[in-house]
Amino acid sequence: MKGRRDCDVLIVGGGPAGLATAIAVRQLGLGALVVDRSAPPIDKACGEGLMPGAVAALGRLGVELPPDLGHPFRGIRYVGDGVSVRADFPHLRGRGLRRPLLHSLLVERATEIGVDFAWRTPVRALQGRCITTDSGELRGRWLVGADGLHSRIRRWSGLAGRSRSRRRFGIRRHYRCKPWSEDVEVYWTDGCEAYVWGSAADEVGVAMLWGGGTSDFDRLLQRFPALVGRLSGATAATRDQGAGPFDQRPRRLYRGRVVLVGDAAGYRDPITGEGLDLSFHQALLLARCLAADDLRPYPRRLRRLTARPYLFIQLLLAAEARPGLRRRLLRLLAANPDLFARLLAIQAGGQPLSTLGWAGAWRLAAGLLGPSH
Ligand SMILES: Cc1cc2nc3c(=O)[nH]c(=O)nc-3n(C[C@H](O)[C@H](O)[C@H](O)COP(=O)(O)OP(=O)(O)OC[C@H]3O[C@@H](n4cnc5c(N)ncnc54)[C@H](O)[C@@H]3O)c2cc1C
Repeated sequence: MKGRRDCDVLIVGGGPAGLATAIAVRQLGLGALVVDRSAPPIDKACGEGLMPGAVAALGRLGVELPPDLGHPFRGIRYVGDGVSVRADFPHLRGRGLRRPLLHSLLVERATEIGVDFAWRTPVRALQGRCITTDSGELRGRWLVGADGLHSRIRRWSGLAGRSRSRRRFGIRRHYRCKPWSEDVEVYWTDGCEAYVWGSAADEVGVAMLWGGGTSDFDRLLQRFPALVGRLSGATAATRDQGAGPFDQRPRRLYRGRVVLVGDAAGYRDPITGEGLDLSFHQALLLARCLAADDLRPYPRRLRRLTARPYLFIQLLLAAEARPGLRRRLLRLLAANPDLFARLLAIQAGGQPLSTLGWAGAWRLAAGLLGPSH
């Protein structure tokens, strides 16, 4: 493709956010070209938990999840500080699904509705709405940066901001063994959490998030003796993949006709497992703005979309950083499983904050501010 090629919406990054944006703009009648340095199916370090909201958003994008693909989960279980407490999602279930499988489903749907692709095409530079690749220049009426956590489009377009919180990292591995739980399990210990989910009928995924020190999977895992016991005898099914540091915030979301979506548009932390959910909803929201030829509502609508998830991320990061607060939170939830269910309904079930009620809010505040022993 030497020379220059033009299109309606040029999307740099064919991960979940870029593909969801391409599908959503095509559904609204615009042309879309996705450029990615890799080729499908693309894998990535991820907890691979599709929260109920992500499953619903995939439906809106016309992506059907075959019922036997991956492994469903009913809720979340927290384990740590001598307690174990779980709650169900209020309506839909979530789904643990290997990233390459999710990627294939998104590519299939995008292909079906006429999205164009340039795979194995690293983007080398950006000028205005024009990108340079090894095989020529591409230009979109709109240029969407969906190139992930360390987005170059964000940097090249002058939209990058500063991260504000502690540097945290993540690493992920799969094991050949039958999932033992119908929940996503979150094991807590000082300075590290482990997330465990069923990714297939005979496979379990483990991701750990931590704030510094070793990045060796096996050494991190030793911090969770209960998990080591569960996994003893199981062989690794995938090579380890890592990511971070998290907490990347743009200064602004768009400049002229260059706009950001997905992790490129700002990412806090995987602690609530909502990156995909947010990416899909952002994509739907951005597509409406692009179809209306007006990006001005995008930042405000995105703030509204992320306000509640960011509140829960802040709460959990505060507990993660302060063992005393974490102990109080876990014991409070263990003593009040109904409170946990309500919080989960708000965080992952789309229920309004009022679901907590005055009594619930009081119990939460009193429990968090009370003694840790
Ligand atoms: C350890 C961990 C656990 C997580 N757990 C969960 C979870 O359980 N549930 C959940 O919903 N979310 C989770 N997330 C978050 C989720 O993975 C991200 O939010 C999601 O991948 C964002 O998608 P994206 O398309 O914005 O970015 P990415 O998936 O990173 O895609 C970006 C794409 O851009 C391409 N690209 C980058 N630079 C260029 C370039 N110069 N030229 C061409 N192409 C380029 C890349 O090849 C890539 O395909 C987790 C994240 C981590 C790190």
